[in-house]
Amino acid sequence: MAMTTTPLYFASPIPKQSNSTNPHTFSSLSSRISIAKRSSLSVRSPPQPAAAVVVAETASAVVEAEPKKTDASPPNSLPFRVGHGFDLHRLEPGYPLIIGGIDIPHDRGCEAHSDGDVLLHCVVDAILGALGLPDIGQIFPDSDPKWKGAASSVFIEEAVRLMHEAGYELGNLDATLILQRPKLSPHKEAIRANLSKLLGADSSVVNLKAKTHEKVDSLGENRSIAAHTVVLLMRK
Ligand SMILES: [Zn+2]
Repeated sequence: MAMTTTPLYFASPIPKQSNSTNPHTFSSLSSRISIAKRSSLSVRSPPQPAAAVVVAETASAVVEAEPKKTDASPPNSLPFRVGHGFDLHRLEPGYPLIIGGIDIPHDRGCEAHSDGDVLLHCVVDAILGALGLPDIGQIFPDSDPKWKGAASSVFIEEAVRLMHEAGYELGNLDATLILQRPKLSPHKEAIRANLSKLLGADSSVVNLKAKTHEKVDSLGENRSIAAHTVVLLMRK
């Protein structure tokens, strides 16, 4: 992951979801109830001066209590959100190769501030992207010694926490790893199972593909490894 030193970004563009009804729907419903109350009171009230004052006061109080309506639905009302993640790491001798939390035997691994898990970093960015949040480098800056050598599972845990906090759960995830060597097929199921576990998702909604880079460029020359991920989040 290309960690940046950009300051932490605390603001979340997605308001925390409460378990109450969609505010937009609530507003419309409340409006309808208020109108019904006003009509009913007006119709039933006799044309006596004292009663008319009571009606006017009640109607005015109802109008003031109504929340302001906005034309656009709030972001958290979206039933689905899509996110894409990409990551690339340089491969160097003398480092472990960890993919999806699984230690893969190889003659080289990722030189990185954390454990250099290209797949987990990429999945984190896809989830953050779906939530409209900044990237992994901004949320876990490499200037913070706290993340030096950290297992990337902590980044996934945080991304999953943010996802639930925003009121979403994983619909499905599709990831593609690009590396020339080693062959990933013997490790794919272990990686998929561990990734599903970290995400708290059933493995049937977590898909993993692997490709070589046809021996061209750094990816094809065993000098780097990359990953792409697309996630679909669903409102809970
Ligand atoms: Zn990375």
